[in-house]
Amino acid sequence: MSAGSAFYITTPIFYVNDVPHIGHAYTEVAADVLARWHRQAGDDTWFLTGTDEHGQKILRTATANGVTPKEWADKLVAEAWQPLLQTIDISNDDFIRTTDERHEVNVQLFLQRLYDAGYIYTGEYEGYYCVGCEEYKQQSDLVDGTGQYEGQLVCAIHSKPVELLKERNYFFRMSDFTQRLLDLYEERPEFVQPESVRNEIISFVRRGLTDLSISRQTFDWGIKVPWDESHVVYVWFDALLNYATAAGYGSDDEKFARLWPATHIVGKDIARFHAVIWPAMLMAAGLEVPKQVYGHGWLLVGGEKMSKSKLTGIAPEQITDTFGSDAFRYYFMRAISFGQDGSFSWEDLSARYQAELANGFGNLASRVVAMVTRYFDGVVPTAVESAVTDAELAIRATERRVTAAADEAIERLAVHEALTRIWELVDELNGYITTQEPWGLAKDPANADRLATVLSTALRGLGTLAVLLSPVVPEAAAKLWTALAGVGTVQEQSIRSAYDWRGGERVQPLEALFPRIEVDAS
Ligand SMILES: [Zn+2]
Repeated sequence: MSAGSAFYITTPIFYVNDVPHIGHAYTEVAADVLARWHRQAGDDTWFLTGTDEHGQKILRTATANGVTPKEWADKLVAEAWQPLLQTIDISNDDFIRTTDERHEVNVQLFLQRLYDAGYIYTGEYEGYYCVGCEEYKQQSDLVDGTGQYEGQLVCAIHSKPVELLKERNYFFRMSDFTQRLLDLYEERPEFVQPESVRNEIISFVRRGLTDLSISRQTFDWGIKVPWDESHVVYVWFDALLNYATAAGYGSDDEKFARLWPATHIVGKDIARFHAVIWPAMLMAAGLEVPKQVYGHGWLLVGGEKMSKSKLTGIAPEQITDTFGSDAFRYYFMRAISFGQDGSFSWEDLSARYQAELANGFGNLASRVVAMVTRYFDGVVPTAVESAVTDAELAIRATERRVTAAADEAIERLAVHEALTRIWELVDELNGYITTQEPWGLAKDPANADRLATVLSTALRGLGTLAVLLSPVVPEAAAKLWTALAGVGTVQEQSIRSAYDWRGGERVQPLEALFPRIEVDAS
């Protein structure tokens, strides 16, 4: 990808009634790292997140709390979702709410266009409906209830009884798109990734698609169907359109043309909505399908999926209050292969914090800056070409190699791999300092050229690390960049030439980037 190309990335919009947990934060951080990387690469980057606020369950909860659904959503956005983004240092460019006028008006426009084009018809629908999922369920999605629900059919996800609903609804002719979708998956294997999710989607669509009921008449908290105001738009149909309405669909054609199509980061459990229903909707409207739908894996805690309906949720602040937002971001991006399921444990978090962030990276930075302060009175040393050895050439080669390798990994959305490659430079620099012993060179003025060359090389190496790690640990990278007297801000440095050090005159004092944490053993 050349510098300056468009990169529009989205997360799923948060279901406003959920309680924020590390699963939501994980998706946000992954998208944020990709967005920050592309911004630093000079790409025309746009990062969207937001909230999903319609549907029967929100209406019911709001009513139970004695407020209107909009008041209820306002409160949750202000008290739960916006603060979550602060907690984990998310750099989103936009935040869309499905109650925004820019969204509601253009959902209606989209729907009217599909109606006018003959893709929508009236029909009868009878089926089992789970209010938790806001979705009609097939028999195969239901299981026998236990405990208080013994003898009833319950949703396999929510373990709560489903309702048998019969409605006269509007239907979207999704079945028309079965073959076109199969062709899309075939012609563009990267459209749905990773491979495991792609295979699941293909086998689902091969069984044939049925038309989709896209309106509800039983409640009114939603966007009204423009030609029949007694119906509201099905929440998923409404929610998926956020990716288009936020990008200017219907309101700003120029912006939409610039941003669209998007890369959608989603959990694999909702990949089907994004890789089947959504492209079918876009095809019907004559719009381009997304660039990619990437279904990441689940976070497992004690072997169980982090779930909105189970009480295993861990709030992100439980981690950031102790370890900080950088460590949160680093841990989830490094410890879990993006795309696979991964386990969270406090022990692993604590061990990686200590070994990789505090000792591996933070300590390296502190030592090098301290040595420049001690031996050069803080003046940034310059390498003396006649004193350069194979050891320095090797470090310079590694800087270039890991920069290219990390960028290539990011293109594949393999954030964990990018970090593994960047860490090769951390490890190599630590080994270099140990081998070159600058503290030994400093004892003999005859070694002055070597000392300057070694510390200059180490400093440049740290500069490369600050640039490469800025998308993942933005706070630490900014502090390090300031300490190294880097020119401008670290975010302004071109990530694809991270090894092109642009430094100033004097280093600044550097506090520990990842201070020692006394973990309560109880
Ligand atoms: Zn359910």
